[in-house]
Amino acid sequence: MGLSAAEIIDSLPSLRVTVEAHGLLAKKSLGQNFLLDRNITDKIIRLSLEKQNKDSFAGDNIYEIGPGPGGLTRSILRQEPKKLTVIEMDDRCISIMEDLQARFKNRLEIINGDALTIDIKSRDEAPRHIISNLPYNVSVPLLTGWLKDIEHFESLTLMFQKEVAERIMAPINTKDYGRLSILSQLNCKIEKLMDLNPNCFTPAPKIWSSVLLFRPLENRPNAQELKKLEHLTTLAFSQRRKMVRQSLKSINGISEKLASLGIEETRRAEQISPQEYLKLASII
Ligand code: SAM
Repeated sequence: MGLSAAEIIDSLPSLRVTVEAHGLLAKKSLGQNFLLDRNITDKIIRLSLEKQNKDSFAGDNIYEIGPGPGGLTRSILRQEPKKLTVIEMDDRCISIMEDLQARFKNRLEIINGDALTIDIKSRDEAPRHIISNLPYNVSVPLLTGWLKDIEHFESLTLMFQKEVAERIMAPINTKDYGRLSILSQLNCKIEKLMDLNPNCFTPAPKIWSSVLLFRPLENRPNAQELKKLEHLTTLAFSQRRKMVRQSLKSINGISEKLASLGIEETRRAEQISPQEYLKLASII
């Protein structure tokens, strides 16, 4: 019998040795802050599995965006996924991934490219999961793209800057509540797995980070509703201090439509719940 994933990983040089051997100094332009402590990366994966009531990723296809030197990658591989596909832009990290691939063969696929241009859902069969310590400069466009395709994924386990995570989870009537909260909360059940202080990373960023788990809700907006929601929330939140009778006035018959749903037209954008936005989207 071949070696288990854990046995292979235990036989590898440590992450710090790997980083030094490849001269991998972090590049700010690529949003690089690395996780080199196995206790942390294992904990992220363990918490994600626990919340999903799973013992491992056996039988699942996992996609990791930006593996960097491969700390989180190693923790994912320990859970024996059917296949792990890593998507990375930095050639120095690709060469680290190639060393790993020499040991894992076809259980690890490497894509050298920009995750923003890759259509993950049409690659391998379900069940699919995305796991990433996201490059902060593209975390929001990546998330909004995946939310639109969320029915193709079992889960997303994603690390964000804490301030972005707060916007995603923000409740109605708070300053952080906005388009990102509405789109995220209408599509997914979202749970915070952990907060990480800056010292967990090399180099240490200035800010804290949070890891969130997204799982698709059964009743989600359809494609047409999503399109209308986008229009509606853009109008409402681009004038977030104005009453909606003003910010939404370009929509035909908006006063009657708001009244028919029991939404006072004197409310402001942040005083309308995700469900109310969805109901309004379905009648405009
Ligand atoms: N996963 C590693 C870790 O936790 O130590 C690295 C995380 S680091 C925050 C983000 C990684 O994403 C870097 O390795 C960077 O090169 C890569 N990256 C940045 N922009 C990317 C993009 N558009 N597509 C794919 N990878 C990207």
